[in-house]
Amino acid sequence: MDRGSPPTDRLRVSLVSLGCPKNLVDSERVLGAFVDRDLVICPHPEDAEVVVVNTCGFLAAAVEESVGKIREMVALKRPGGLRAVVVAGCLAGRKGIDIPALAPGIDAVVPLDRYDDLVKVCRETAGRSPGGEADYRRDLLTRGERIPLTPKGYAYLKISEGCNNPCAFCTIPSIKGRHVSRPEEEILAEAATLAANGTRELVVIGQDTTFYGRDTAGEFRLARLLGRIAEVPGIDWIRLMYAYPAYVTEELIDLLAAGGKLLPWLDMPVQHVSDPVLRRMKRPLGGPRTRALLGKLRERVGGIVLRTTLIVGAPGEGEAEFAELLDFVREFRFERLGVFTFSPEPDTPLGRADDQVPEKVRQERRAAIMERQQEIAFADARAQVGRTIPCLVETKHRRGVSDGRTWRDAPEIDGAIRIRKAPAHGVIGPVRVTAAKGYDLEGEWIG
Ligand code: SF4
Repeated sequence: MDRGSPPTDRLRVSLVSLGCPKNLVDSERVLGAFVDRDLVICPHPEDAEVVVVNTCGFLAAAVEESVGKIREMVALKRPGGLRAVVVAGCLAGRKGIDIPALAPGIDAVVPLDRYDDLVKVCRETAGRSPGGEADYRRDLLTRGERIPLTPKGYAYLKISEGCNNPCAFCTIPSIKGRHVSRPEEEILAEAATLAANGTRELVVIGQDTTFYGRDTAGEFRLARLLGRIAEVPGIDWIRLMYAYPAYVTEELIDLLAAGGKLLPWLDMPVQHVSDPVLRRMKRPLGGPRTRALLGKLRERVGGIVLRTTLIVGAPGEGEAEFAELLDFVREFRFERLGVFTFSPEPDTPLGRADDQVPEKVRQERRAAIMERQQEIAFADARAQVGRTIPCLVETKHRRGVSDGRTWRDAPEIDGAIRIRKAPAHGVIGPVRVTAAKGYDLEGEWIG
C-alpha cells in the first residue's frame, strides 16, 4: 500500500525482518500468509494497525538489536494508528529472555512453533475478530507461499530447519530444535516456482546444509539434492551456504568441481583452526582435519572461492592459539571471511566457562584478523580487473549503471559490482571488470 491509498476495512499489517537469510525466508512466508488471508501489507509500520517484528536472538548483540527495534515499534503506537506490536522469530523462542520485561508495551509473543497462529494473533491484538483461522492448518514456515524480499534474480532456498550439532558456543539448536530436512520433492517444487518467477540464482541455506537427508534417509543427501535442483529449468547458479566441515562428503566436493550449475564457491564456517580451541568448541573435525579439508577443496575444485566465518576470543584461545589462527588466515587466503568476537551466551557451555578472554582482547584480535583479511580481499578484487566474469544484475539501471554481483560473491555479505550498460535486471551475463574499489568492483556488460 502506498501512503496515499484510500482507507480499507482489511487489516493493515507491517513486518520488520531482522537477522540472517534463514529468518528472511520465514519473513517472506509470513508475508505470503498475510496476502493469502487478505491482509494489507504496509511498507511503513506507522501506516499499519499491527507490526510484526521477526527477531534474531542467537547472540547478545542480536538480542540487543531486536529489543531496540521492538521498543522503536512500541513508541509508534498511537490511538487511531498503530495498535499492536507482535514479536516473532528467534528471540521469541529463546529461553530465559523475558521480552515483555525488556520491551514493555508489546502485545504478543509468537515463537516459531506457533507461526500458524500468527494471522489470528495479529487480528486479535488489533481488536479484530480472529477470522476463519480455525481451518487454517497450513504449515506456514515450510509450505507457505513467499513474497520475495530479495532483489530480482536470486532467492534463498531453505532446505532444512534446526541443527543436531553440539557446538559449545551456539544457542541455535536450543532455539530452533533438532534438524528437520524438508522433503526433496517439496524443495524441488519451490525451486521450480522461484525459477518461473524469474529467479536465476538459488542460494541454498539451512542451519547446517550438509546434514541434509541424514535425519530422514539415514545418509547425507545434499549432493543428490543439489544435482536434482540443477535440473530445474531456468536456474543458472546454485550457491551453497552454511556447510558444516565434518559432513562435507567426497560426492559434494566432486559436484563442486564438476563445473555445473553448482558454483565452485562454498561458505563453510570453520570457526577456528587451532585444535585445542576447536575441541573446546566441540567441533569434531579438530584442527588438522579442518586444514586438510580446506586444502582438499583448494586442490580438487579449480578456482574455488572459499568463504568462512571465524570466532576469536573463545575460552581456551590463548596468545599461541590466536597466533596460529592469524598465521593461517595469512597463508591460506580465504577469498571471503567474516570474524566475530566470542559472545558468552549464558545458556551455552562455553558461555558459562570460567576462563573467559577479556572483551578488550577479543576486540583486538578481531581487528587484527580483519586487517589481515582486508589486504587479502582487496588484492583479490584487484586481481579481477581485466577479467570477464559472469555477473547477476540485481537492480534497474540509474543513468546507465546497475548494481550486481559476480558469481564469486554472495548476496548481502560479499562485495558488489557496478555494471555499466546492463540490458535489464535479474539477468546473468558476462561483465568485463574495469576497476577495483576496496571490496567492490566496476565493470561493463559485454553480453
Ligand atoms: S553447526 Fe552452526 S547452528 Fe549448528 S550448533 Fe554449530 S554453530 Fe550452531
